[in-house]
Amino acid sequence: MDLFSQKVKRSDLEKGDHVYTWRKNIYTHHGIYIGEGKLIHLVNPKADGTLHFSATSRISSSGGTPCPTSNCGSEKVAGSGVRVSCIDCFKKKGKLYRFKYEASREFLVAKLRGGTCTTARSDPPEEVIHRATYLYENGYLEYDLMNNNCEDFALYCKTGLWSNDIGYQGRSSQANMVHPTKKEDRTENRMQRFATAIPRSCSKRENKDLGVQEDVVKVPVEELSSFLFALSFT
Ligand SMILES: [Zn+2]
Repeated sequence: MDLFSQKVKRSDLEKGDHVYTWRKNIYTHHGIYIGEGKLIHLVNPKADGTLHFSATSRISSSGGTPCPTSNCGSEKVAGSGVRVSCIDCFKKKGKLYRFKYEASREFLVAKLRGGTCTTARSDPPEEVIHRATYLYENGYLEYDLMNNNCEDFALYCKTGLWSNDIGYQGRSSQANMVHPTKKEDRTENRMQRFATAIPRSCSKRENKDLGVQEDVVKVPVEELSSFLFALSFT
């Protein structure tokens, strides 16, 4: 058995698990397993050609026939990007992996790519599912590749941690791999930087890992919008 492997069979999934799957072997897509073969995850609504939906509408991830699984692809808050999907639609043709929490620094460094583990600790599963469900039902922030992507969403659901740094959250370790140090570079060619991120240094990722960030606070999901509102005035 490979101790480094985070591959997980669907029969071994547990409620509250943070899972991910590789897309085109370039980046990882993340979600929270809520049981009964379903996940809650954040997608970029602008990227998949769909605009507005209701909880009753079905969204096909492939653009073809909608998935027959009840509620699969639905958004409770139209356009929020927070969706419930079945395992098959979530992973598409990829495999499932379990995101590792309380990883050692050695483990973190040994993983050459971001988006697989953190030294931060997960909250109990019922809290994780509560956050994910609450955000599904009440809406969430707009998707942002560098500052609020699918990994950020899952990490917040698992930890409740939010950064006081309004300019950059830094939860997502994939984003940390490419996050420019100079402020003026932050908006340049973000897609390109993201796609070419793989060889970048591990230390950059390690130093920004959610588990070692000092500017993070625990924000109850019910208070997240007022917290962000207050933060916007600081
Ligand atoms: Zn489905």
